[in-house]
Amino acid sequence: MDASLLALFWEGFELDRYELLDTHSLLVTLKPDPARPPRCHRCGQASTLIHDTHRRRVRERDLFQYRVWLDVPVRRVRCRQCGPRRERIDWLIGRQSLTCAMVNWVEALVRLMPVKHVAELLGLHWHTVKAIDYRRLQREVRPVDLSRVRRLIMDEFALFKGHRYATVAICADTQQVLWIGEGRSRAAVRPFFEWLGPKGCQQIEAVAMDMNTAMDLEVQANCPRARVVYDLFHVIAKFGREVIDRVRVDQANRLREDKPARRAVKRSRWLLLRNPENLGEELK
Ligand SMILES: [Zn+2]
Repeated sequence: MDASLLALFWEGFELDRYELLDTHSLLVTLKPDPARPPRCHRCGQASTLIHDTHRRRVRERDLFQYRVWLDVPVRRVRCRQCGPRRERIDWLIGRQSLTCAMVNWVEALVRLMPVKHVAELLGLHWHTVKAIDYRRLQREVRPVDLSRVRRLIMDEFALFKGHRYATVAICADTQQVLWIGEGRSRAAVRPFFEWLGPKGCQQIEAVAMDMNTAMDLEVQANCPRARVVYDLFHVIAKFGREVIDRVRVDQANRLREDKPARRAVKRSRWLLLRNPENLGEELK
């Protein structure tokens, strides 16, 4: 391969040799480019005094059907200003076992599919992919500005398809997730309001939620100015269950002697939930 092409990927180094480790793994061994003296990691100053060299094996992006490993001779320079320092390699940051190109590739994929799938696809450990995504999130997610939070959405979701739940609190205006905690009881969501602090709680104006939880009590206990806004679906469903059904049962009991009328009442359960166009002519 042309040396200048390789310089696109591994600046400061040249191809020494390559070998197949097995049918799907390629080991590429690099050597320093004599035309580019190493630079001090701390100050960036080029130096020709090499303190020592150790070889690192790092994972590069896949090439066709091969997983690619690089064998890189990383030098320590004897910098005039800083003393012995590791050389600066722009495509291999810190002590990472993956090149920057590989890290960028993981970051791109993990936006599109779950960590587990990215790990399987690239042959990396789940924890490696997770750690990369975690650092990406720390870098990209804006810090929460609690002083601007006025309206909240609180909801629960199931964990691991079981009977364990977690609660999420979201800023209704920015859609930003503010807090997640395990459980859905009053005690489970209390840490959120403690984290929000008395000042933050005081300025909350409205909290939207469904009617399944005890969260409304905790909101009222902590946020004196907040109005609880129930999700409309749950309001209608609860009204149907607790009000309309009660009336229907009482009516049906009263009409015990009048069989056709009783049947009409008993069959009217879904009347309010049906779309008008689906009702028979006699019911409109
Ligand atoms: Zn230096």
